[in-house]
Amino acid sequence: MPGVRVQGVGVGRGVVTGPVLRMPEPLPEPSERPRSNTAAWEFARAEEALLATAADLTRHAEHSTGEARAVLEAQAQMAQDPSLLTDVRSRIAAQKTAERAIFEAFHTFQQMLLSMGGYMAERASDLGDLSQRTIAHLRGVAMPGVPESDTPFILVAHDLAPADTVGLNLGKVLGLITSGGSPTSHTAILARAKSIVAVVGVGSLDALSDGTEVLLDAAEGTVTIEPEDSEIQAARRRLGRRRSKVPIGPGTLADDTPIPLMANLTAAAEAPRARELGAEGVGLLRTELLFLDAETAPSIAEQVEHYRGIFEEFPGRRVIVRTLDAGADKPLAFLPARSDEPNPALGARGLRAFREDNTILRNQLRALAIAADATSAEVRVMAPMVADAAETAGFVLLARELGLRTAGVMAEVPSAALLAAQILGIADFISIGTNDLTQYTLAADRQLGALADYQDPWHPAVLRLIRMIGDAGGQSGKPVGVCGEAAADPLLAVVLVGLGVTSLSMTPEALADVRTELRQHTLEHARLLATRALAASTPAEARQVMLDG
Ligand code: PEP
Ligand code: MG
Repeated sequence: MPGVRVQGVGVGRGVVTGPVLRMPEPLPEPSERPRSNTAAWEFARAEEALLATAADLTRHAEHSTGEARAVLEAQAQMAQDPSLLTDVRSRIAAQKTAERAIFEAFHTFQQMLLSMGGYMAERASDLGDLSQRTIAHLRGVAMPGVPESDTPFILVAHDLAPADTVGLNLGKVLGLITSGGSPTSHTAILARAKSIVAVVGVGSLDALSDGTEVLLDAAEGTVTIEPEDSEIQAARRRLGRRRSKVPIGPGTLADDTPIPLMANLTAAAEAPRARELGAEGVGLLRTELLFLDAETAPSIAEQVEHYRGIFEEFPGRRVIVRTLDAGADKPLAFLPARSDEPNPALGARGLRAFREDNTILRNQLRALAIAADATSAEVRVMAPMVADAAETAGFVLLARELGLRTAGVMAEVPSAALLAAQILGIADFISIGTNDLTQYTLAADRQLGALADYQDPWHPAVLRLIRMIGDAGGQSGKPVGVCGEAAADPLLAVVLVGLGVTSLSMTPEALADVRTELRQHTLEHARLLATRALAASTPAEARQVMLDG
């Protein structure tokens, strides 16, 4: 089907062409025929395969950082879970082969997680991945996963497990196409952090057999099958225009209006790269990711140590710290999700986790104040999932009482946008979390690949809410940042500025493209484009406003 164009959601701005290679289909289900070897022999095989799988994942983890590392370590631990081994042993005792016992044991655990819903259900696919890896070890066959090739290719998959995304060989994988996943799914966030040109959520992959040449244009979110030379040239020209070099330096518009460009960080280890790429400070420090492994709440002293390490990387610079955002997609052992919540994303997450007992929040703010006083970084704090002015006042007063001078809130719930003027009467600033603001505006779980098309911050409904916040910022003279994934989309970044946003924070890898695009527009032009995007009735129409210039 030469020239056919498939639409998905682009990650980043790049353009690549090349032949596709599909991820192998999953291994077939092991047969139910009873074992012919002794139980002890089969069990030893199963145990060895699980150990080998855990060792593989640990190796991957050692080459990763941040969230990816935490996910891989958790997977390696799951492979060594004693209750899993007990289950496998009893199945082998009941005449199953090692392959069948492993398959059934993981399947049972998977069903259990799925029935719990929310974040636990999300982990179910990690178990499916583990099951396949272990069975491949047992069979001595190639691991299901990214195919090997001597020549570069564009990888096509239904979705990628975290282990596959972080392990992608950037020398060989030119780009990535997935049928599932949304722009804020793990796969997309990891792909963006690795600067892999990707189009996710394309639906059917039927037209993409091994060897088919495709043209991937992430800015447009399109995959063109067997493109004409003229289409490739046109895409490269578009890329050339997007990439015209702007040297590393502060973010500014064409009329020199400053738009500080900040980094989203999860750990001190990421700071040197962020500075190298020109981050002017930190716009979002996701503190819950510092404590993913902690079984009990970290002490004040322990926290001070962590925060100081990060603040010292940014002397004299602004560092915005988000207080713990536990729950739903970010579980913490010491702030467990409540088992009686059928919809964790609408449950006691973010600031709401501290409604009954705020000891953990108080300790965190105290630790932040001590660390801030010990360094020259300009530390600001903000709370996630704030709904209104009363919650804003509660948080801001607490932060000030505990020694923090500058306190703001995130706008992630539509009510916070509607009430932005009241909120800015109290808070020192607002930072818009477009990932959650989009999920709650469109009432579509950001973790569901099947609803990925709703998770689009270009949606005019989301843009209108951002305009309300931008207007409130303009009237109060207080800063309005964006720290969701939307800030990393260079075209959308221009629209955000036109809607009244005064700073942008993103994965450091996205800084260069956003800096370059901002330089092409004056504030007046950005405002004009934003007004046009607001009038659109679909995300695609809004995006088209920018593509038309
Ligand atoms: C957001 O919701 O946009 C955000 C920045 O927070 P997180 O992605 O960590 O929920
Ligand atoms: Mg959020």
